[in-house]
Amino acid sequence: MSISENIKRLKQEIPESVSIIAVSKTRSGEEIMEARHAGQLSFGENKVQELKAKKELLPGEIDWHFIGHLQTNKVKFIAPFINVVHSIDSIKLLAELNREAEKWNRSIDCLLQFHIATEETKFGLNFPEAMAILTSPAFAGLNNIRISGVMGMASFTDDQHLVHREFRALHEYYVRLKKEFFNPDQDFCEISMGMSGDYRIAIEEGSTMIRVGTVIFGK
Ligand SMILES: *Cc1c(COP(=O)(O)O)cnc(C)c1O
Repeated sequence: MSISENIKRLKQEIPESVSIIAVSKTRSGEEIMEARHAGQLSFGENKVQELKAKKELLPGEIDWHFIGHLQTNKVKFIAPFINVVHSIDSIKLLAELNREAEKWNRSIDCLLQFHIATEETKFGLNFPEAMAILTSPAFAGLNNIRISGVMGMASFTDDQHLVHREFRALHEYYVRLKKEFFNPDQDFCEISMGMSGDYRIAIEEGSTMIRVGTVIFGK
């Protein structure tokens, strides 16, 4: 199957309301352009240098998302063009994104990354940590970032019940934050969950945004 066929098949399979972020890390400019020509607009990268190089290389309009762990000292390289950062895990990172976005007179959408997997290795916040960010005095003054939702990664496992539970937990965090903090803010509306191996489960549990590489670009 070609990249364009994979995109077409995926679009037919999932609800129209769920957006697709094509995860293009390690993929070539040619592969990205093939997906772009098949109508895919949003792409996700997890390394700053790789993203910056691709941004400079590729022509035309691309909606870039950052999905990996982001160090504050690298924010300046992507702030001029990044539209969504999925991996917010501290007020320090938000403040730096805000500072750099302000320089470029832009607004950057940010998703709070939650730790939902049982594995120790994955980054992310727990609920009290997220609330601490949102209620901190520093947060109130950030006018060039917008918290538009939550993101999480499930455990890498064959246990589908566990994956369901983890995605359900992220959905519940989203609902609680919306109710306790954002209501009735329409901007807080995204649940970024689901990768190639588990996007069907994620959609069943309320995902609004799937981040998929392998199902689009192959192994
Ligand atoms: C690599 C990656 C994905 C996509 O993984 P696939 O299994 O290729 O779909 C999604 N989200 C994050 C954060 C990633 O690093």
